[in-house]
Amino acid sequence: MTALPPPSAKKLGLVIDLDTCVGCHACVTACKGWNDQGYGAPLSDMEAYGSAPCGTFLNRVHSYEVQPEDAAPQIINFPRSCLHCDNAPCVTVCPTGASYKRAEDGIVLVNESACIGCGLCAWACPYGARELDAEAGVMKKCTLCVDRIYNDNLPEEDRVPACVRTCPTGARHFGDLGDPDSAVSRLVAERGGYDLMPEMETKPVNKYLPPRKKGAVEASPLAPLLDVQATGFAGWLDRLLEKF
Ligand code: SF4
Ligand code: SF4
Ligand code: SF4
Repeated sequence: MTALPPPSAKKLGLVIDLDTCVGCHACVTACKGWNDQGYGAPLSDMEAYGSAPCGTFLNRVHSYEVQPEDAAPQIINFPRSCLHCDNAPCVTVCPTGASYKRAEDGIVLVNESACIGCGLCAWACPYGARELDAEAGVMKKCTLCVDRIYNDNLPEEDRVPACVRTCPTGARHFGDLGDPDSAVSRLVAERGGYDLMPEMETKPVNKYLPPRKKGAVEASPLAPLLDVQATGFAGWLDRLLEKF
């Protein structure tokens, strides 16, 4: 078992806007590209051109088609990566101390040289945010691009996670969610940002923004989306589908 540090004042994380995500996967590609050559072992790709390709991705986007009763089908795009939980079960379950949460900024990382690939942290994570790299034999997860955000060799505008830098719709925001006056905290307050699966008591730092309430949308099949309150990933989706 690995102990968690006291909650950090600084809580770096992402705010993801489900209203403006178009499911383009640019963030998935940028994440893979950056993290394949920097922090830790490369991210594997196996059978890339075979019948059953598989690989390691630290950020994935799931798209769901939902069918309203009296309107055309709608697509919901849902980006998913580590939420850098304050109360991270993936850390406390780790038998070697390889998984840890940084006291200074709250980022959850894996020390790959101490990881034995047991997979317990992936089992403990309720969000499916960890990926055991079958080729490297170590656990992988989002690092919030820790090798970009503090990298003085990069231009200042590039010192954000690769996914945030590349998102063409500005659906991904990065900042200090421990600072109530930060741009990301204000965004969460203004837009009713929420925790994913709060009933798991993991206290995720990352937040999601629901679709915005717009006059034109209220009378449309998208209106049910406006009421969505996340109390579970599966539950979130189920309730969403029920509303259609
Ligand atoms: S790059 Fe932005 S718009 Fe595209 S899938 Fe990722 S979050 Fe959504
Ligand atoms: S999302 Fe999963 S992997 Fe990330 S800190 Fe939370 S429990 Fe750990
Ligand atoms: S796979 Fe690695 S990081 Fe995860 S619990 Fe096992 S030793 Fe810890």
